[in-house]
Amino acid sequence: MDARAAAHVLAEIATLRQLRGEDEAESALFEAASKQLGAQLTRSLSEALTIGAFAPPVRAVLDELVSDGDSSLLDDLREETPEGLQEMLRVPGLGPTTIQRVHAGLGIETLQELEDAVRDGRLGALPRFGPRLVERVRNGIMQLRATGAPVLLPHADAEALRLLHEIGSHEGVSRVALSGTLRRRMETVNELALVVECTLQPIAVAASLTHLRGVQRVVGSGTRVISLHFADATTATLHCVRPAQFAMTLFRTTGNAEHVREVLQRLVDRRYRIADDEVRDTAGHVVPIADEGGLYALAGLPFIAPELREAQGELAAAAANALPSLLEASDIRGVLHCHSLYSDGGFGISDHSRSALNAHGMSAATVQQQHDEIDAVNVTLAGRFRVLKGVEADILPCGTVDFGAPLLDRFEYVIASVHTRFGMNATQMTDRVLKAMEDPHVTIIGHPTGRLLLTREPYAIEIARVLERAAQLGVAVELNADPHRLDLDWRSCRAAREARVQVELGPDAHSIAGLDHVALGVSMARKGWLGAPDVLNTRSADEVLAFARRRRAAVLATA
Ligand SMILES: [Zn+2]
Ligand SMILES: [Zn+2]
Repeated sequence: MDARAAAHVLAEIATLRQLRGEDEAESALFEAASKQLGAQLTRSLSEALTIGAFAPPVRAVLDELVSDGDSSLLDDLREETPEGLQEMLRVPGLGPTTIQRVHAGLGIETLQELEDAVRDGRLGALPRFGPRLVERVRNGIMQLRATGAPVLLPHADAEALRLLHEIGSHEGVSRVALSGTLRRRMETVNELALVVECTLQPIAVAASLTHLRGVQRVVGSGTRVISLHFADATTATLHCVRPAQFAMTLFRTTGNAEHVREVLQRLVDRRYRIADDEVRDTAGHVVPIADEGGLYALAGLPFIAPELREAQGELAAAAANALPSLLEASDIRGVLHCHSLYSDGGFGISDHSRSALNAHGMSAATVQQQHDEIDAVNVTLAGRFRVLKGVEADILPCGTVDFGAPLLDRFEYVIASVHTRFGMNATQMTDRVLKAMEDPHVTIIGHPTGRLLLTREPYAIEIARVLERAAQLGVAVELNADPHRLDLDWRSCRAAREARVQVELGPDAHSIAGLDHVALGVSMARKGWLGAPDVLNTRSADEVLAFARRRRAAVLATA
């Protein structure tokens, strides 16, 4: 490793410690050492170590970098720091210390919550938050958005809801619907698209909509398709239409370009003509289309759910009547990946094992205590609802599952996750996870690629090999539904389904509000072509426990 790469590691450690409000003096040591090393561009790290003097905590990290190539302290800090705080670092002018104060003062953990707090005045009410600082935060968020930076799905959902409400009650508007990537439930969204059904002339309605609150700039003035750039840097394209055009416009602005082109081609093949978002027959008469279902029917296809309209084979499947019957929110019967006060969150059942979070992981003694409490709760609930005893155990760098057999035996199911050493190459990382799966205690592989959307790339891993082995062993793979993760990626969910791997939808909730992540997970599962039979959470508690036991028993039988 060269000195410069080491400097980056030290700088990130300093930043994350500041974010977490840890010992400022020590953060400063890391920061200073980072600058010192960064100045030595040409030297290798071992060379730089022989000349420079470093404080003991810094020195320990540098020694580990020389011997192992990465830092376990950095791994731990990344894992322990809420993803949303790391996301907020993307806001220009917003430093870790300020973010920490906002977090401590208001409990804010995401960029979206920060934006809400700016808007509703809570930020300005914090001690030592003068109007200038609030203004700086507001500008920073706007700058980030002005670059066209994508936002996470829940963030886009919140903005879209506001717009739906406002436009829906506007004069001359009878109906408004979301389309675009948000309706397809893409994991990140650059801009919003809405279809506005008008009872008055669409161009006139479009013109009046340019006066919506907060509009700063309009593109496409004088037409019925306008892009509004709002003061908070949200961009929304409004397609204003007559009622007869609504279904076609909704269809055309939802699917990706290839999907739309192929469906329209099918209409043309059937001798329809399409102009101005209306369909005409050979005699030139307008064919009335009630809704998108009617449009697909005209093309000789069953309705295709918006999430699937990515030109990933859905048209061929539709034509062959082989579309999957997609998961519905009502199919979900329980959740398995939740954290509780025993590690780092609100209510829950699968807390971190010892090594994941040096400070917050459970020890053997606390496991017993937690299980006693769960037993007591289950007695109180008397069969109306059941709390299961799970754990999120670390996959150690060598592929061993943390806690070891005697302790793991006491849990009803085990989620095994990688939380450290993300720097391994694809072969090492894949072997590490494959080895963990051989442990018969492992029920589920948690967040299999470790990505944090917009913040951290997935680690290198051959997901196809993981899925293949998971299918052979009867181990489930997680679709972590935290909006920052959405990991397994929906594109790989399809492969999981084809490999006949069970997918577990994990809210990874650290608070009661975190349980809402399930809805997002359902969207992603649908986008990944998953139906109820593919998803572990659609089973009863007994069936889930049987799934976990089967995995354990199979190995005991061959042993
Ligand atoms: Zn985890
Ligand atoms: Zn977790």
